Amino acid sequence: MADKTIHIKIITPEKIVYEDDINAVYAQGISGSFGILPNHIPFMSVLAIGIAKIEKDGDEKSFSVMGGALQFKNNEAIILTEAAEAGSDIDTARAQLAKERAEAKLGSAETKKEIQIANAALARAMARLKAASKS
Ligand code: ATP
Repeated sequence: MADKTIHIKIITPEKIVYEDDINAVYAQGISGSFGILPNHIPFMSVLAIGIAKIEKDGDEKSFSVMGGALQFKNNEAIILTEAAEAGSDIDTARAQLAKERAEAKLGSAETKKEIQIANAALARAMARLKAASKS
């Protein structure tokens, strides 16, 4: 019989943020969003700064994911990323402050590099606020 679950791990350099048997994973690749159900063919994607959502027994959990990659094979999914947080673990006041700081930096940025850094910080803060709001 075909498997009905995916074993997923969300891994950062510091820890395993999440590991479980789930029914579906949805994430944001650099060229668009995608979803994976059990028994999907092998798949790999570079991830954007954004959110990943998992479904388990009818419940949903959202995570902020700071880029990285997702690899899927034999009903095992691995997300390797610089930083990830479960929506319920996110400090929204901190993310809101980070968003305001990034917006101010974007307003005063003069070089391409400064714009790039501020845009990335803004994207991280927005991803955290979005993941938190869905939890
Ligand atoms: P800040 O400016 O608030 O530090 P940042 O985007 O620079 O935000 P990162 O460098 O992406 O932060 O992350 C540093 C560490 O702090 C990581 O372990 C990350 O999981 C954690 N972290 C960052 N922001 C939050 C938040 N709002 N809630 C919970 N953990 C956070």
